Amino acid sequence: MSEVVASLAGVTLRLPEPCPLCGRLAGTRVAGGLECSWCGWLFGSSPDDGLPRPVIEVVYYLRYDRRVKIGTSRRPRQRLASIRHDELLAFERGGRGVEQARHREFADIREGGEWFTLTATLRHHITTLQRTPDPWQQYARWVSDALRP
Ligand SMILES: [Zn+2]
Repeated sequence: MSEVVASLAGVTLRLPEPCPLCGRLAGTRVAGGLECSWCGWLFGSSPDDGLPRPVIEVVYYLRYDRRVKIGTSRRPRQRLASIRHDELLAFERGGRGVEQARHREFADIREGGEWFTLTATLRHHITTLQRTPDPWQQYARWVSDALRP
């Protein structure tokens, strides 16, 4: 019984080639075909190579020492590379509107600019956003979802 189920779905296998989104090789068999285990890319549904990636606006939570920068970007890889930080804590889906709402929400612990003190309250909020061990995996899944036909 368990073998039959396993043969139909949920088996981790090796993808025929690296995932075009994240480059990983572990896949899962799903109803529509093969899916990248890490970012959820549906294998075989690859868009034309010339098509631009979808723009996913995110609010990022970037820790440096005991402070957290809450900012937004449409190109988080490039943006984060230019900001000194110890650790990316989380991404939240959204742009300027969400960013401004968070800045207001945490106004009492604002240290200046986009930097906030990492209090228990802020940490709790960030924890609720952490759906994957690595925030970049969450980001890759949003990109992957946006590319689904
Ligand atoms: Zn992938």
